[in-house]
Amino acid sequence: MRPTVVRVDLAAVRHNVRTLAATAGTEVCAVVKADAYGHGAVEVGRAALEAGASWLGVALVEEGATLRRAGIDAPILLLSEPPVAGIGALLDARLTPVVYQPPFLAALDAAAADRGETVSVHVKADTGMGRVGVPPRAWTDLLRQAAGARSLVVDGLMTHLACADEPERDVTGDQLAGFERFLAAARGLGLEPRWIHAANTAGTLLHPAARHDLVRPGIGVYGLSPAPAVDAAEHGLLPALSLVSQVSFAKRVEAGTAVSYGHRWAAPTDGWVATVPVGYADGVPRRLTGHGEVLLGGARRPIAGTVTMDQLLVWCGDLEPAVGDEVVLLGRQGDEQLRVEDWARHLGTITYELTSQLTSRLPRTYVGGQPPAAG
Ligand SMILES: *Cc1c(COP(=O)(O)O)cnc(C)c1O
Repeated sequence: MRPTVVRVDLAAVRHNVRTLAATAGTEVCAVVKADAYGHGAVEVGRAALEAGASWLGVALVEEGATLRRAGIDAPILLLSEPPVAGIGALLDARLTPVVYQPPFLAALDAAAADRGETVSVHVKADTGMGRVGVPPRAWTDLLRQAAGARSLVVDGLMTHLACADEPERDVTGDQLAGFERFLAAARGLGLEPRWIHAANTAGTLLHPAARHDLVRPGIGVYGLSPAPAVDAAEHGLLPALSLVSQVSFAKRVEAGTAVSYGHRWAAPTDGWVATVPVGYADGVPRRLTGHGEVLLGGARRPIAGTVTMDQLLVWCGDLEPAVGDEVVLLGRQGDEQLRVEDWARHLGTITYELTSQLTSRLPRTYVGGQPPAAG
């Protein structure tokens, strides 16, 4: 019933996966953690696989299990170790874990042996991100432990870049040099795994030396920019997500009439105010108060006053809006477009935070769902 929806264009997702694969010249692991950054992990995951991705990446065992329950059979990389208590569920869901701590590795090996299974793992080196990963002084010990594990196969070696979206900085070069030393240490122990990978979206687009034989884009799959310096549109990527609603109430007000909580805004002239049933409980940031715009009647119009939990108001000036008129908060209407990047700039944050905060109260609808006919 709700007229406010997140609309996800799966044709854009497929286009973006193909574009990233062509740019990198490698296989793709499409990162669909956090419900595909708010876009819907099952639908986006299927579309990414249709477009040729060979892996999906998730942050949590639960996220991987959701993909399996939906019937997705492709390899799924679990990007961080869960607590040891999560190993059973990880094995049940046939996830490929990224490993970096000796106790986790030992527990995983024992659990796999108990089941009579052999489990592929990817070993993660910390080369400067400083979040999770084996620190350099422990590289050899952990690689030796992994190589010697009875029921584990080291099928991948990886790292993660901290500053790939800031091309002017030296950090990425230093990290990639560190990664080469990690790879050499592994080769020294006789490990020659199939998958070597380091690149997130910014690494994929800007750092050829990070590409190796698999890239791990997340934000680029959604057609969004990792940072202002790396514009997704300039790299041929298409935004997949729109946030669309409808006018639920319209009224004419006199100049000086204040609206919404706190009376922080008043009509500059006589004119029309529209009410739109979407608010901060849907993930439209309350901090857009005083900055935000929507598209209504084919033009940009300012949000009038405070964004409330379930509704916001729009100043339409001379345009008389009608109940049911389409209101675009993100996406296109006519020749105009509002981008997640616009919100990020106003709010001093990044695109990732904004789409992943669109709440489950917003129904997701999918368009462009049919893969192009074979041949
Ligand atoms: C989230 C994540 C990615 C994807 O990063 P983007 O910047 O969204 O492309 C890749 N690798 C790891 C380890 C991640 O945590």
